[in-house]
Amino acid sequence: MTIISDNITKAVHILESEDLVAIPTETVYGLAGNIYSDKAIRKIFEVKRRPLFNPLIVHLHSIEKLDAIVSDIPPKAQLLAEAFWPGSLTLVLKKKSSVPDIITAGKETVAVRIPNHPVALELLEKLSFPLAAPSANPFNCVSPTKAIHVENYFKNSIRMVLEGGDCKNGLESTIIGFENGEPLIYRLGSISIEEIEDVVGKIDVKNKSKDSPDAPGMLAKHYAPKTKIYLTDNLDSFVKKYENKRIGVLSFSKSVSASNIEQIEILSKSEDLKEAASKLYGALHSLDALNLDMIVAQRFPDYGLGKSINDRLERATK
Ligand code: AMP
Ligand code: MG
Repeated sequence: MTIISDNITKAVHILESEDLVAIPTETVYGLAGNIYSDKAIRKIFEVKRRPLFNPLIVHLHSIEKLDAIVSDIPPKAQLLAEAFWPGSLTLVLKKKSSVPDIITAGKETVAVRIPNHPVALELLEKLSFPLAAPSANPFNCVSPTKAIHVENYFKNSIRMVLEGGDCKNGLESTIIGFENGEPLIYRLGSISIEEIEDVVGKIDVKNKSKDSPDAPGMLAKHYAPKTKIYLTDNLDSFVKKYENKRIGVLSFSKSVSASNIEQIEILSKSEDLKEAASKLYGALHSLDALNLDMIVAQRFPDYGLGKSINDRLERATK
């Protein structure tokens, strides 16, 4: 029985009764619950098998709702919010005491964003509370960019996936925190560093992988398919080296042929990084379903969304 439905009223009822609904956003599908319901939030961690030290992103309907959640907005955060909201940018800001500790893993800061998806916005508008909505996948697994991905993961543990079509951006949000009023990228994502720098000037990426990162999206191992995945600069020679293996290939724009390749996913024939990002997780889900010996992914160009794609692929190989 499918749990996928486009009935927003039903989603409102489930969320109001402190239960969970998977919701579409422009980044990936989220597993959503009322931020003020201890029952709902605990269920998010339980269903995802997400460790409690990994804080959640709060999703708001509009910037007017921000005051209820955060106590201080640095000038550069204001600029970024104006430039990118609604959109795929998460800001980590000082929290108000009314935000439950379980949302922030005990931190004094809270991650917030306004999603740019008509269904998510309509839902948030109908609710009297914000939604916590981490990606709707078991911890460490590939994020869902279609309702069916979520159903495959969670049909036995949640009541509803709200249908909203394929996620347009297909990569998680870019997370930015502030240290002494200055912005720092905690997680690369759907909005490129170049776009951020156009608004606030030069910006660094926080200490790439350490054991207890501020944004566990930056954990060394993350976003991994079940099939072992390798990253290479040269698809042709890598595939030749493993001629006895059944291989799935993830290529940016070009085809590769060899008898040991069972399936190839080309992310953008026109080398459009935005298109490639939007198709990345769908391609990983397809390749992973084939029970191959290995997935071989091509390294992407090191600029724009190519950096964010490489970031996810590198973590998937760990
Ligand atoms: P997900 O929603 O599954 O994409 O994960 C949310 C990401 O936001 C994780 O990488 C969290 O660590 C990060 N995050 C949430 N709250 C905070 C916070 N207060 N400080 C730093 N990172 C955060
Ligand atoms: Mg996630």
